[in-house]
Amino acid sequence: MKLVKTIDEMRAFRKATRKSGQRLGLVPTMGALHEGHLSLVRAAREKSDLVTVSIFVNPTQFGPNEDFAKYPRNLESDSALLQREKVDVIFTPSVEDMYPADAVTWVTVEGMSDRLCGKSRPGHFRGVTTVVSKLFHIIEPDVAFFGQKDAAQVAIIRRMVRDLNMPVAIEVCPIIRESDGLALSSRNAYLNPGERKSALVLSRSLQRVQKLFDEGKRDAERLITAGKQEFAKEPAARLDYFEIVDPDSLEPISTILQRALIAVAAFIGNTRLIDNILVDPQF
Ligand code: AMP
Repeated sequence: MKLVKTIDEMRAFRKATRKSGQRLGLVPTMGALHEGHLSLVRAAREKSDLVTVSIFVNPTQFGPNEDFAKYPRNLESDSALLQREKVDVIFTPSVEDMYPADAVTWVTVEGMSDRLCGKSRPGHFRGVTTVVSKLFHIIEPDVAFFGQKDAAQVAIIRRMVRDLNMPVAIEVCPIIRESDGLALSSRNAYLNPGERKSALVLSRSLQRVQKLFDEGKRDAERLITAGKQEFAKEPAARLDYFEIVDPDSLEPISTILQRALIAVAAFIGNTRLIDNILVDPQF
């Protein structure tokens, strides 16, 4: 496994491998790796010849009062995990290399970037689409792997790739959860034992809505109310949003007649967590 720290070295590696026609799979991450990330790495291992994992805590996707400074960084343990998964390259550039001090160019998926997490985290998705574009340009992957955990991110990146004709396939992998239902997240490390219990309200609210959906309920407002009721019973949680939207456009849906994304975000103490499910009346 190769540890690549500069953009120049990454480009040189890609140039050398292009000649051999090997299919390169990219898994973009911010590190602090867990089984959710590793599921993407395993999918990449299965579907590509060369696997590159980028580890970059991207400053432009954090708001001024968010957790960029304290975000967990453990390159050593991340490297050990990735070595075990037979990853070929870890790309871990510095902030200075990725963002020259006078950089003023952004990639924005307009409209969609203001929905769901984009509403409460202004500029977040602009940071995501800009850094993912940069990674695509530097690494030139044939295929890139993302988690359904960040459902809005998936929709926005798919739209960006389509709108800008980026020559990369996007693969989406299911959400990996703890046995009690909590979606794995690097931010779960912030939770104290009490908060860890309270955090189950996210998956519990989605399960409740899933059950009502399975019983035939289709009215979004009613389903949202049922989901929000779970939060009313959990004083340690502060709901950011509970929404039902079209999974491709992220536009709100009033009656579920086709595939729908049910997405939730909430603060547990100071930790902001997200979760979602996809439902489909056709199945
Ligand atoms: P992050 O390091 O949080 O930026 O996440 C990197 C990638 O891992 C993103 O595509 C996430 O959607 C994905 N990911 C994070 N948590 C999970 C999870 N619990 N299950 C599946 N994928 C995940």
